[in-house]
Amino acid sequence: MKPIALFWHRRDLRVHDNIGLSAALNSGLPVAGFFCFDRNILDHLPPRDHRVGFIHSELKVIRDQYRDAQGQLIAKHGLALDTLQQTVNQCADSGWKVTAIYTNKDYAPGPVKRDAEVAQWCGENQIEFHAYDDHVVCPPDAVLKDDGTPYTVFTPYSKKWHKTFDAFEASPLKEASVQLQGGMVPLDGSFSDFPALSAMGFDEESASPEGWAAFENRTPDPSTLANYAERRDIPSLVGTARMSLHLRFGTLSVRELTRVGIKHSDKWLTELIWREFYQAIIHHFPHSASDAFRAKYDRIPWRHDDAHFQAWCEGRTGYPMVDAGMRELNETGFMHNRVRMVVASFFCKHLLLDWRLGERYFAEKLLDFELASNVGGWQWASGSGCDAAPYFRVFNPESQLKKFDPTGAYVRKWVPEWGTDAYPEPIVEHKMARQRAIDTYKAALADA
Ligand SMILES: Cc1cc2nc3c(=O)[nH]c(=O)nc-3n(C[C@H](O)[C@H](O)[C@H](O)COP(=O)(O)OP(=O)(O)OC[C@H]3O[C@@H](n4cnc5c(N)ncnc54)[C@H](O)[C@@H]3O)c2cc1C
Repeated sequence: MKPIALFWHRRDLRVHDNIGLSAALNSGLPVAGFFCFDRNILDHLPPRDHRVGFIHSELKVIRDQYRDAQGQLIAKHGLALDTLQQTVNQCADSGWKVTAIYTNKDYAPGPVKRDAEVAQWCGENQIEFHAYDDHVVCPPDAVLKDDGTPYTVFTPYSKKWHKTFDAFEASPLKEASVQLQGGMVPLDGSFSDFPALSAMGFDEESASPEGWAAFENRTPDPSTLANYAERRDIPSLVGTARMSLHLRFGTLSVRELTRVGIKHSDKWLTELIWREFYQAIIHHFPHSASDAFRAKYDRIPWRHDDAHFQAWCEGRTGYPMVDAGMRELNETGFMHNRVRMVVASFFCKHLLLDWRLGERYFAEKLLDFELASNVGGWQWASGSGCDAAPYFRVFNPESQLKKFDPTGAYVRKWVPEWGTDAYPEPIVEHKMARQRAIDTYKAALADA
């Protein structure tokens, strides 16, 4: 049997500048691409999910790129390890022995566990397993305090990120060259099945590009970046780059975006570093995916109030900026960062609901949902996270509206009945809710 390697795509739905794919091709083994539509994730999603549609359509692009180089992308629907085993067996039946699997690392706790299982199975079957840091510029284990422990506060992390960046021997932004032609396995047609969305239980309309219209740009607009520092907090403008979907699924390389940041906007570069900070936090503190980063915040007696939860989800709280944000989310799968902060703070403080419920709702609806940044944002809002604001600092949603949407343009776009009798009264009174939050947090956090 002739030895070959598989390259397993996950958060890197692209061929260009792909570190793991480049390493697979440089191994000297002929390479076949692999992707698993993972039932562990997909079985929990509704039939129309534009993220699945986006993945599906991006994979077709990759499949065609492989085909142009006489190669194959093997795409399967099932559980990761099962589908890898099937693929290895199917290759063996055709005379190809998979001797190595290459991939790029994912730092979230679920994928880390999955990869450990795959690595163990590989070890038991004389298959090499190689995983690379492609999803971030400075990997979590590269940016540590001088004593070797991880940072939990952003500003010193960011300083060390820059130092680490400068200290790399070769530029960490160098493009990983990928030459498919001549490097692919000429597998036969039996490998070319590509699961249809409908065969996996999804509407074909999940793949209509209107579903991800908020992210249609594939390069940051230079004028957006030139004005980013001044306009990034104004939700009525497209003042941010709308790259988060592409960073999430790796349709763009973080290295190319970081090069753009260095050239055009320090402030924007800082946001990319926030993203790496949260990747590092989830890597070093996996408990924070589901528990308070600071354990004593799990003592807070969250309220249980279905009516308030529903009103928040549907954008009917009577607080215009909160309602506009939730309606934007429900309609487009995107919400502006400033508004994410306002709606999350309102949820945890004014409604005193458990941040995990809000985090899960965002996870269902956000096209750019990404566990590390989502949990980071929610724990920041609830006060329980690393580097979170002190609990007694409670955002006033009305002041936020006056400051960041002074003309009301953003609110009117999403809440047309605002200012009429049809708009609901506030579901909680601000002063009461603020004081209730402070008192509840204070009592819960007081040392026992
Ligand atoms: C409660 C809450 C939940 C969030 N959930 C997510 C999520 O699930 N997925 C996600 O990608 N971002 C999340 N964010 C961060 C941020 O809101 C989005 O990354 C940003 O709105 C995406 O729009 P953009 O690409 O136009 O951002 P830009 O302002 O153009 O920023 C450029 C890139 O920097 C990164 N970035 C910017 N702000 C942050 C931040 N605060 N934390 C981490 N990375 C950041 C993103 O990758 C973003 O694409 C959340 C923030 C909050 C407050």
